[in-house]
Amino acid sequence: MADVKKIAVIAGDGIGPEVVGEALKVLKKTEELFGYQFETEHGLFGGIAIDEKGTPLPQETLELCKGADAVLLGAVGGPKWDNNPKELRPETGLLGIRKELGLFSNIRPATVFDCLKEASTLKPEVLEGTDLIVVRELTGGIYFGEKFRREGAHGEEAVDTCVYNVKEVERIVRQAFEIAMTRGKRLASVDKANVLETSRLWREVVNRIAPEYPEVELEHVLVDNCAMQLLRRPSSFDVIVTENMFGDILSDEAAMLTGSIGMLSSASLGEGSFGLYEPVHGSAPDIAGQGISNPIATVLSVALMFRLTFGYHDAAAAIEAAVKEVLDAGHRTGDIAVDKSKAIGTTEMGDLIVASIRK
Ligand code: NAD
Repeated sequence: MADVKKIAVIAGDGIGPEVVGEALKVLKKTEELFGYQFETEHGLFGGIAIDEKGTPLPQETLELCKGADAVLLGAVGGPKWDNNPKELRPETGLLGIRKELGLFSNIRPATVFDCLKEASTLKPEVLEGTDLIVVRELTGGIYFGEKFRREGAHGEEAVDTCVYNVKEVERIVRQAFEIAMTRGKRLASVDKANVLETSRLWREVVNRIAPEYPEVELEHVLVDNCAMQLLRRPSSFDVIVTENMFGDILSDEAAMLTGSIGMLSSASLGEGSFGLYEPVHGSAPDIAGQGISNPIATVLSVALMFRLTFGYHDAAAAIEAAVKEVLDAGHRTGDIAVDKSKAIGTTEMGDLIVASIRK
């Protein structure tokens, strides 16, 4: 019997349904070409779920996601729900779904397309060949440690604690080594081991796991140095793995190398191969419903799903090559077009990509 992969599809709000629609066309084309089989089922989530079900994350959507092999998410949120109480806000649903699905890492590729090098704020020659992935720990560190205020010797003080246990570090580090094995086999573990105890533990765990992956070339990089090197020699990185707060900052820095938010895909992974895939951008209410959004981030999220959850590297490469071909031919949506008068729409971009996917 054919191996049918179940994908929970959550279009969400704003431009979410537009960009997800194009990604589904890409999914269908790869089914036809490569013989893979997907079963897609749609769920309500975010603002639309608040309107229709009275909660941003309905139980049936959660069950749908839990029963799937992967989740494809558009984007949620918008001004309509901005002033709602916390439990009735789309972002609360986002935090809830990550927690309920046990997602502990966030994966963000930053690939510079040669034809878009000029769109970046960095010099094109610095960006040449940049193709990296940031693997960020999502559930621990200073964002989740104990926080409190107290009276100190000099008045009011605030305390945030940074905690990591060995298990938390092990699982993300293993995941990063595994991802490095599917790519350039180079891993940069980023910490601040010269100052922080959590970083010293992090480094110990990384060194203990490294011999399990003898083919992967490992380097330890201090976070301040990494921030600098990302701007000086971004092409020297393959996979970067780091803790929550460092990853938050470095993944945004790395994202900006590519020049446009409409191009950036991401994944949040849990145990095993399960993952939630989504564009980095939000619901873009300013352009929603106009048919001008860039679907490439969502299309590339499908390619990322193929690589990280299904191991369909052939189909992933075909999607990535199709995107490159369409861009190389000069087609642009408004967000990445130099000459805005020649910009094409969301559907047109999706159709061009679909037509360019080849086995
Ligand atoms: P945003 O990413 O939605 O938009 C920022 C700017 O980038 C806007 O000018 C938008 O038009 C443009 N843009 C974004 N994606 C684009 C695309 N695919 N094509 C062309 N242009 C694109 O960020 P924001 O404006 O800060 O947030 C809008 C809403 O989205 C808010 O409600 C926010 O909470 C939500 N949001 C959701 C997610 C998510 O669902 N994961 C992430 C970020 C923001």
